[in-house]
Amino acid sequence: MEQGSWIRRMFEEGIVLKQEYGEANVFDLSLGNPKMAPPPEFFRELRRIAEDPTPRMHGYMPNAGYVETRAAVAAQLSAETGLAFTADEILMTCGAGGALNVVMRTLLDPGDDVVIFAPYFVEYFFYADNHGASCRVVPPDEGFYPDLDAFESTIGPRTRIVLINSPNNPTGVLYSSKLLDELAGIIRKKEKEYDTEIFLVSDEPYRKILFDDLEYPHVFAHHVRSIVATSHSKDLSLAGERIGAIAVSPEYEGRSELIDGLTFCNRTLGFVNAPALMQHIVRRLQSVTVDVSEYEAKRDYLYSHLVEIGYSVVKPQGAFYMFPKTPIDDDVAFVGELRSHRVLAVPGQGFGAPGHFRIAYCVSDSTLEGSLAGLRAAFESASGG
Ligand code: PLP
Repeated sequence: MEQGSWIRRMFEEGIVLKQEYGEANVFDLSLGNPKMAPPPEFFRELRRIAEDPTPRMHGYMPNAGYVETRAAVAAQLSAETGLAFTADEILMTCGAGGALNVVMRTLLDPGDDVVIFAPYFVEYFFYADNHGASCRVVPPDEGFYPDLDAFESTIGPRTRIVLINSPNNPTGVLYSSKLLDELAGIIRKKEKEYDTEIFLVSDEPYRKILFDDLEYPHVFAHHVRSIVATSHSKDLSLAGERIGAIAVSPEYEGRSELIDGLTFCNRTLGFVNAPALMQHIVRRLQSVTVDVSEYEAKRDYLYSHLVEIGYSVVKPQGAFYMFPKTPIDDDVAFVGELRSHRVLAVPGQGFGAPGHFRIAYCVSDSTLEGSLAGLRAAFESASGG
């Protein structure tokens, strides 16, 4: 709890500040909880299903989820990847968090390890720990891409999963096809060395939130033991509805046993199945996304102002986070300085990258605009200006 409480701490401090100064005078950039409403198609489907009297519409179903929904997810993935996905390679889950726990429960034995990349989503440690496993961390380079030599030496004989997250929380960095190829090459070398099977698990709830007309480089073309964990928390702004999916490569020959294992673990971890109502709804929304251009405009606005103030920051290619360097080494002290200007952000050490801070810009334009004065004042006072 001590280690994992940064975001919660900021959240609680935000409540106190808002009581003191009023909601409109506190600029909360600490949470990845999108302000943007779900798209109109979501509400249309919600109304349509609310009127549907089909018996057991809200009852139990196969633990992997409705075959029609899984087929819709498969069709979308086939269109994006050119691979022949069917419902048999898809399992509906309670969000990406649920998906990752199901994958880990299925693949990991106690004592195994999961290789992750800093800066990381801190929950990965707790998810691995849930299943008796632990995380090994690969450090980043200046641009937040993995140090490949360090990656190679981090993989050990008990590594079962290499877990990537692109576009990334907290940096917004996207992994290119070339990088995925390099990672997969190293994984295969290590599989041979240790005579093991290592799964490349791609946590991609931000897959559809991409900027600059970039196309998403899927993992499946690079490693046959690839698994995707995703959700509609961000791309349809449905974080509270807990709807996501797992996809297993249609080219992995052990996929039938793997999907059986995932389905069993979805049940026995107590999820049982993904929420029925949401499965009915997202079936027809596989090609629908929130208005990504809104996030892109917020990225452009914030990025240009941060650079103008003097921050050093990598320009995000997707998601809705920015991860600037703090002007002083102590990121916790700097986040305290920001707070004194009523701007809430999260210290980089919460993501395994001290000397940075995370801004979640999935907020209203007025919150973003209002935060600039505090971001400037904190920068100037920390830089001795
Ligand atoms: N993975 C990453 C990188 C995230 O940022 C999040 C949520 O913020 C999740 C997984 C969990 O997403 P979900 O709400 O789908 O469980």
